[in-house]
Amino acid sequence: WQVPVITIDGPSGSGKGTVAALLAAKLGWNFLDSGALYRLLAFAARNHGVDLTNEEALKLLAAHLDVQFGASKSGDGMHIVLEGEDVTQAIRNEQVGAGASQVAALPVVREALLQRQKAFREPPGLVADGRDMGTVVFPDAALKIFLTASAEERARRRYLQLKGKGDDVNLASLLDEIRARDERDTGREVAPLRPADDAVQLDSTKLSIEQVLGQILSEVANRD
Ligand code: C5P
Repeated sequence: WQVPVITIDGPSGSGKGTVAALLAAKLGWNFLDSGALYRLLAFAARNHGVDLTNEEALKLLAAHLDVQFGASKSGDGMHIVLEGEDVTQAIRNEQVGAGASQVAALPVVREALLQRQKAFREPPGLVADGRDMGTVVFPDAALKIFLTASAEERARRRYLQLKGKGDDVNLASLLDEIRARDERDTGREVAPLRPADDAVQLDSTKLSIEQVLGQILSEVANRD
């Protein structure tokens, strides 16, 4: 018996992070936000003055990342603690996202983070969200979802999210950033963003989070 895994891959803003967390909670399974690992590495690199092109230093940093994922005492969801500092919010901005996609293009970095990701596969099950969960990290997953949405809709969602936090944002530049990140993620040589051959593709452009979750749950039910 292997611990079952459901992978949800897709571009940023497709809603996969939210859906994956809700699905994990609903099933009572563990949750891996793999993008957070790349974000954490980019963030730690900045803290330690490591250049994002310095492969050797990044490899070392990735291997020794001192990070804890856990529920906070106040019960407001998952918190991420890096070297003793709560960085849950700090790793979510576009600058860290861009750094993450830069370090994520380096094979040594992906290799260094591979075991760490696999270690999340603990009973009773795992929902893993990212770009290469179904293609590289968990190729034997029981169910693979590839979640997309138009770039315009993803920019709009991101805009509303940042606006809601009180950030000063611009829709056109968010759209540019999303397109640039898509291009880096799909165009890179190692573990590019692409659906696994056996993935179920879902387009969330016109769907609510609840509708996407409902479709995934019916896929889960179909397989039981
Ligand atoms: O999903 P999130 O936006 O947090 O991911 C940040 C960046 O990390 C992505 O743009 C991508 O370049 C990289 N990433 C990756 N493989 C994953 C998850 C994220 O390359 N499995």
